[in-house]
This record gives sequence, structure tokens and C-alpha cells, in this order.
Amino acid sequence: MASRTETRTVMNPLDYDYSSFFYSSSDDPFAILEPYNEWYNAAVPEGYYLFAQAMATPPDGRILLTEGKHHERLKLLNLSSYNYLGLSSRAEVIAAAKAALDQYGLGAAGSPILSGTMEVHVQLEEALAKFKKKEAVMVFPTGYSTNVGLISGIMRPGDWIIADQNSHASIVDGAILSKAEVRFFRHNNPADLEKKLQKAHGKKTLVAIEGVYSMDGDVCPLPDLVAVAKKYGARILLDEAHSAFVYGANGRGVAEHFGLEEEVDMHVGTFSKALGGQGGYVAGSRNLYNYLKGFARSRVFSCALSPVVTAGVLTSLGLAQREPQLRAQLWKNVAHIRAKLEENGVDIGQSTSQVIPIMVKNDRRVFELGHKLLRAGLYLQPIIYPAVAKHRSRFRVSISAAHTTEQLDEGVAILVKVLREEGILV
Ligand code: PMP
Repeated sequence: MASRTETRTVMNPLDYDYSSFFYSSSDDPFAILEPYNEWYNAAVPEGYYLFAQAMATPPDGRILLTEGKHHERLKLLNLSSYNYLGLSSRAEVIAAAKAALDQYGLGAAGSPILSGTMEVHVQLEEALAKFKKKEAVMVFPTGYSTNVGLISGIMRPGDWIIADQNSHASIVDGAILSKAEVRFFRHNNPADLEKKLQKAHGKKTLVAIEGVYSMDGDVCPLPDLVAVAKKYGARILLDEAHSAFVYGANGRGVAEHFGLEEEVDMHVGTFSKALGGQGGYVAGSRNLYNYLKGFARSRVFSCALSPVVTAGVLTSLGLAQREPQLRAQLWKNVAHIRAKLEENGVDIGQSTSQVIPIMVKNDRRVFELGHKLLRAGLYLQPIIYPAVAKHRSRFRVSISAAHTTEQLDEGVAILVKVLREEGILV
């Protein structure tokens, strides 16, 4: 009798990614869970899934991070957190949050349009409107829910939304939820925006762009984009998640930097980046505010931002205004690290901001490199599809005003050593 050799396929986690598990052919919505978990459970020990390791400290320059199956606590240099002005753990911010905890308790316990608006929410909206020189600011529970609620709140089926192809998921999801026609123009390309606007002729149109792009760190060519959008009578949404409180002579963002604050109809931002907190906002007209109060469903049907965080953010905002030296220090740090990276031939893509991609462009190797960096003492998160296109994987460095020169130099030294050892840098 002929012997039979049993062949068993051993899954190689590197042959798959999220896109492999988006659809399943079953009529059971849970049918995808088993194959996904088979991949997940194979991928985690392989180090493929290098995400969401728990931090035991504030997101400062040096952190403690729990890593691996033995829950080892690593002491690392951190170049991954947003915290651009280093405000998340400032003593004044913590004191304000503690005082709010004593005054209001932990949560708002209601939608902002019902019982969830507390005095501190009104104070933050008013302070931010004054800072942004706009009639009104509406605060949302997160930056994500700001774009989702704003876009789906004002755009309707049959309208047109034209967004940059590198738009953040919250812009894309808001557009999908609105059921408007959605088109994407080539990244930072005003001529392509114009082509799309010609197709939208006669329709109610919104152009959605970002100040600094979150994965590439490049700045939008706002004057040209605004000129084209205005020519076709479109309204403009500018998401300044990564540029508010950082760009502009007074920190009012890329719109201030280009002298185009009046031309932009909706200024979106988040408190989770430069202000080191949480929550999002849109600044614009009083009429827009009043309309959104009824129609921004992500805010209407969600509990208001915690008063504790709101008070911390209000204090962060005051510090960002009173201490322009924080912005100056941030830009000094950015110039320093850019020079070091460029000197060593590191590929940082098109970045000109405090968001600096370290391009790897190899969706498999980025995880190996991430591990090596951790073992060498540097915390950098791999960024892969769907956050960026396939084969565009990278690490993303986020610079803070709170980083010291010594920390930046140490970070570059570790990065360059690992990239050289791995043959990414020659
Ligand atoms: N817009 C952009 C451009 C972003 O990069 C982000 C967050 N990465 C958001 C919105 C969402 O902000 P938040 O994390 O505060 O919800």
C-alpha cells in the first residue's frame, strides 16, 4: 500500500493583512471571525501585530511600555505620541482637570443638547471662538466625531463632496454617512481638484482638505486650493487636526499661516494633538453652530465630552496662547531632528512639519524593524494599510516641544543604527 504523506498548510501571517478579512462569502456575519482570529493568533506571536501595547506613563519623551507575551515593561524613548506642545502632563493642566473632577464629577451624564452641557463646556467654546476669531465654536466628543457629524450634518444625497485622496478616515466616513456623491482629487493637486469641481457643476459642493496630512506630514497648498474652490462656489472644510495651535504666527493654524482664515468656511480641529487632551471642534459662523446643534448627530446622540477633560483642554488652550515659546521650541526641535535624519540619508517622504514619516515601503519588514527598535530602546509604531496605501508602510515620528535635544539625538542614533543593520539605510 502506498504511503500517504499528510500535507498540512501552516499559515504564514505575512501572506495576509486586514484587506484579506474584509469580505466573507458566508451568510453568517460571524463567519469571518474564525479565519480572522486564526490569522490574528498566528500574527501576534510572530510580532506582526505590533499595536496597542499598553503605556504605564504619560505620553512624554520617556515612557514605560508593556510589551510581548510576558508583559515585560520596557523603558523607552518615545517619538510616537502626538502631544506636540507637551501639554498633556503639564502641572497646570492636571490641576485644572482635578479641580473639575471635584466640581463636576467624572462625566457629563447627558447629550450636550440635553443635560450634558456644563459651564466648563461653554467656557471652552467661548475661549476657542475668541482665539480662532470666529463667531462660534462647537465642541464634539472627539476629532473623529467632529468630521463625521459636521459633514453628514450639512451634506445630503445628491450633493457633492470632493476630498483630498489622503483624507483622514473621519472625513471619508462623514462623507459616506451623508450619502452625497463623493470624489477624491489627487493629493494636494489643485488642477485635479478643478477637474472634479467641473464635474460637480451646478451641485451643492463641499471641498474637504487638511492643513497638515497626518501620515505624510506635508502641508496643503491652501492658496491654490482655496482659489479653485472659490471659483466654483464650493464651501471649504479645513481639518487642522495636526496644524492647529502649531502653525501660524499666533497658532491659529495653516489658515493663519497663509492669511486665509476668512476664506475657509469650517475650521476643524482636535484637542488630542497639540493640546494633549481629547475632543474635537468646528469653528465657523453662529448660523452654522445653530444648525449643527440640531443636525450633527454624532454630537446630538452622544454624551458630552467629560468636564474633566474639557477643563484640562481649556487650560491647555490658555497655555498654548500665553506661551508662544512652546511653538518656537517645537519648530526648533523639528529643524534639529530633520537635519539629523537628512544628514543620515533617512527617507522622510514629503514631510515639512512635526509629523515625520520614516518610509520603509515594505509591509512585512516594518514589523521586524519595529521590534528591533523596541529592543534598542525606541518606541515607534508601524503604520500600515489601511492607514496608508499598501506598500507605503512607514514609521511615524511625532515631535514635541517637550523633547530635549538629547532625546532627539538618541532617537535618531537608535533609528539610524537599526536601519543600517537591517540594510534599509546603506
Ligand atoms: N482628523 C485628522 C486629520 C486626524 O489625523 C485625526 C486623528 N488622527 C482626526 C481627525 C481625529 O481626531 P481624534 O483622534 O481627536 O478623534
